[in-house]
Amino acid sequence: MGWLDRFTGVKKPPDPSDLWKKCPKCGEVLLKKDLERNFFLCAKCDNHLRMPVWDRIALLTDDNSFVEIDQDMESADPLSFVDSAPYSERLQKAVQNTDSFEAVICGEAHLDGKPLLLGVMNFDFMGGSMGSVVGEKLTRLFERALQFRFPVVCVSASGGARMQEGIFSLMQMAKTSQAVVLLNKAAIPFVSVLTDPTTGGVSASFASLGDVNIAEPEALIGFAGPRVIEQTIRQKLPGGFQRSEFLLQHGMIDMVVHRRQLKATIGHILQLLSSSNPAL
Ligand SMILES: [Zn+2]
Repeated sequence: MGWLDRFTGVKKPPDPSDLWKKCPKCGEVLLKKDLERNFFLCAKCDNHLRMPVWDRIALLTDDNSFVEIDQDMESADPLSFVDSAPYSERLQKAVQNTDSFEAVICGEAHLDGKPLLLGVMNFDFMGGSMGSVVGEKLTRLFERALQFRFPVVCVSASGGARMQEGIFSLMQMAKTSQAVVLLNKAAIPFVSVLTDPTTGGVSASFASLGDVNIAEPEALIGFAGPRVIEQTIRQKLPGGFQRSEFLLQHGMIDMVVHRRQLKATIGHILQLLSSSNPAL
């Protein structure tokens, strides 16, 4: 009946799934408008839902201070890779759906009036996977921090390396990690924020190398998924395994911080690391 609607000028009612989202933890139906206002926290159970990348940038920076860098870098398809769909098609789709060329957005910004470099990964872009462009953009961010002597904050949300780029994606683990080592040697502060989920090659490289590693509550953080580990070691895993609180207890991360306190906490850490730092 589409032609009749067009003819009579009747508009289709909006798709309800565009207006609300179900909390994956408690099942509460949440209006998207309310979610945006509430930092993507569930009003009923305080679950930290995934936060869109630009909302995350707004959360962590001073108003209108973020200036994006390297936004035009696009991935190539060096292996002409095809699985159930060609990699080039998957990339095209991701660009259309996310309105961004890659799975990380990098830029310069201010926090509490002080300059910093910020990289935020976008899980909506091919599961936040780290291909050669994500690795290159992050490495450039670290090198820029070295050049201008600004602290760096990275927010990770990733399923790991981008398998469609094979060895080119795995190499990004070493490339980003060596850039962090250069930052360490120059005493430039690097704060890593791990959000749900941070797994695979991202958790196994730069995301775990911060001077301070902060996780959001109940975020999934690990290398291989729990099912793979259970099958490999043939043992049942303890409750909460690979969640932030479990990792904090076992010394894998430094802090678990509620999203509402994240900006203030990072500001405080950077102040502590900078105030007596002759490198800055
Ligand atoms: Zn909930």
